[in-house]
Amino acid sequence: MSASLAAGPLSIGLVAHDDKKAALVDWAKAHADFLKDKTLFATGTTGGRILQALPDLELTRLKSGPLGGDQQLGAMIAEGRLDVLIFFVDPLSPQPHDVDVKALIRLATLYDIPFACNPATADLIVACRG
Ligand code: PGA
Repeated sequence: MSASLAAGPLSIGLVAHDDKKAALVDWAKAHADFLKDKTLFATGTTGGRILQALPDLELTRLKSGPLGGDQQLGAMIAEGRLDVLIFFVDPLSPQPHDVDVKALIRLATLYDIPFACNPATADLIVACRG
């Protein structure tokens, strides 16, 4: 477990591919208590969907993923400003911004931050922190 996961307020990046956005919204609703005191960032469309479901959540919306939002999150990881990445990827659909997706996953791996690509793993992160 990274040091940043062990103590202090977390900053969390939230992203979901189109076919996984409903799953991320469901996950965020199920873990609204966990999320409410965290510093949250999301790619544009994902963030909009989460805020529709949880309008009281404080969340910074970045650019849409295909328009640079994934790269914004990647830059935050490189700068040590993102502790956790929750990125529900769709393994069954090609993504026009596949290079950005790979770059984000690569940086999360390189900088060794907790990274959940599906709800089961995201649940484990919440349980670890819990
Ligand atoms: P979006 O981006 O939230 O703006 O749809 C997600 C993604 O990177 O696919």
